[in-house]
Amino acid sequence: MKGAVIAIDGPAASGKSSTARAVAEALGFAHLDSGALYRGVTLVALREAARRGLRREDPLQVLDPETILRTAEDRGLMLQPDGAGFAAYLEGEPVDAEIRAGPVTAAVSAVSAVPVVREWVNSRLRAMVRIGRDVVVDGRDIGTVVFPDADLKVFLTAAPEARARRRLSQRGAAHDPALLGAETEALAARDHADSTRAVAPLRVADDAVRLDTTSLSFEDQVTRIVALARPRFSPG
Ligand code: C5P
Repeated sequence: MKGAVIAIDGPAASGKSSTARAVAEALGFAHLDSGALYRGVTLVALREAARRGLRREDPLQVLDPETILRTAEDRGLMLQPDGAGFAAYLEGEPVDAEIRAGPVTAAVSAVSAVPVVREWVNSRLRAMVRIGRDVVVDGRDIGTVVFPDADLKVFLTAAPEARARRRLSQRGAAHDPALLGAETEALAARDHADSTRAVAPLRVADDAVRLDTTSLSFEDQVTRIVALARPRFSPG
């Protein structure tokens, strides 16, 4: 049995994860955050490089992707069901805070551009849907590559400065012009890396519904996606 899939793609800090979680809760689906797996692989790589005394900001300079993925398997990197979603575990410990911290965020675009890393992540995402769970999956290539037959595809966008403001608010940081400028630049650099890579770049699927959330409240954007989804999944 294969579960239903709602794909939510979009650039960094477009609100995909929090929106996907709320949509999943409203529909009784599970939320699957593909970025958490890329971040988990990146954390494995950073820890393994440090363990070997090879501390580098870019772990790909010192470890090959096969070694990183073997280490991820050996150390039990996984997403485990947790309420309406999945939480990342490594070495038997929850690592959700660590995979969202600065060092992983700085290195994740490079790690996720490696084709074997993408195959590893995609096969895990597909396996979770094959066991029959209905899911809302968020990422960059969910509607284009991972689940091209998704029942509903949404592409979330927002103006770069609006996204930078949201990111600063999440961190509880002040919105002074210097911080806002630096955050907008960091997001733009990650979007550029994610959109121009050779494998599975960030792009809008032909059959995706685009939703610009620049001037929408969080509740509005969730309501709109739930309204798109309900007729597809309600009986009758
Ligand atoms: O969504 P999030 O910001 O957590 O994703 C972290 C990084 O993982 C992205 O910047 C991107 O490089 C990578 N990613 C990806 N494909 C996905 C999800 C995330 O390449 N489906």
